[in-house]
Amino acid sequence: KYHNELVEIRGNIRVFCRVRPVIKEDYAGDSDGTVVVTTDADDDGLITVLHRGRESVFGLDKVFNQSSTHTEVFAEVAPLVVSCLDGYNVCIFAYGQTGSGKTFTMEGTAEDPGMNQRALEQLFDEIDERMADSWSYTVSLSMVEIYNEKLRDLLAKNSSCKLEIKMMPDGSGLHVPGLCTVNVHSLEEVNASERRPATSMNGAIVALARLALHPCYRCTCDDRSFTCTGKLNLIDLAGSERLTKSASAGERLKEAQNINRSLSALGDVIQALRNKSEHVPYRNSRLTYLLQDSLGGDSKVVMMVQIAPVKKNSSETVNSLSFAQRVR
Ligand code: ADP
Ligand code: MG
Repeated sequence: KYHNELVEIRGNIRVFCRVRPVIKEDYAGDSDGTVVVTTDADDDGLITVLHRGRESVFGLDKVFNQSSTHTEVFAEVAPLVVSCLDGYNVCIFAYGQTGSGKTFTMEGTAEDPGMNQRALEQLFDEIDERMADSWSYTVSLSMVEIYNEKLRDLLAKNSSCKLEIKMMPDGSGLHVPGLCTVNVHSLEEVNASERRPATSMNGAIVALARLALHPCYRCTCDDRSFTCTGKLNLIDLAGSERLTKSASAGERLKEAQNINRSLSALGDVIQALRNKSEHVPYRNSRLTYLLQDSLGGDSKVVMMVQIAPVKKNSSETVNSLSFAQRVR
């Protein structure tokens, strides 16, 4: 209860953390799989990390521990998902170093789906219910990747067309001319639309699925109608890890610099919104520019910071939690 009140006061940005369990990869090399992260049984917003002999405590809106399930995580996210049917724009981000569980949380597995499938299922279920109530909905889907500050269409059959983010002619918002959008009526249709390229550049990509929802309410008495638009953005961010010096050369270096730029631009934008700054630096990255309409105003944002709990990751864990604290 305490937590929910806190969220009310804190406004539209929620920063959660999910600690993944220890997995066999955590024992690779000379790592002994020692866990350096502890969560607080009495306060589910606190997490402690032991790094270089020092303990740091971080306070977030909620911390999901190693044994948390997708069902528990989604229970916190679900109210926001539903709000896009009322015209709100919503972003759900997964942030964290490579291997910390971003894709696990967003995509899950076939038997136990993650946030993406659960969100879509909930949306279409809710739409079915509201349809009976004089509401109608149009739902369209687009999917993009941002790689080295270039947009790539994940729904296009051939994605050679150069995509740019442009202001609408009437100045009402941003759009991407030429980006595929498909109307979808069910979860199955969404799942059938994706054409993720086999060459997907793992790790160096910000993948984004955007659903635009156009609810329309028809008043049966005098045939007036009311429409609005809500958007749901589901974003699996690129790995947040700092590049080791030895690996930084050529393409890999460029990639890392672009990732770094996008992630820090995202942090800057959320921090500026949080502080109600006059200037919000949306234009510093494609990611923040593209999401401009879904980050500010009365948009709702969930930042899911993923944590790998073992000692060899402690430095990245501290970095990720510092990011979490900065945007909270
Ligand atoms: P990322 O997308 O951040 O690089 P992944 O989602 O691929 O990380 O996760 C790395 C590994 O950890 C995968 O094998 C994944 O199945 C496993 N994993 C992550 N989170 C969990 C979890 N909560 N429970 C069980 N396994 C997990
Ligand atoms: Mg991943």
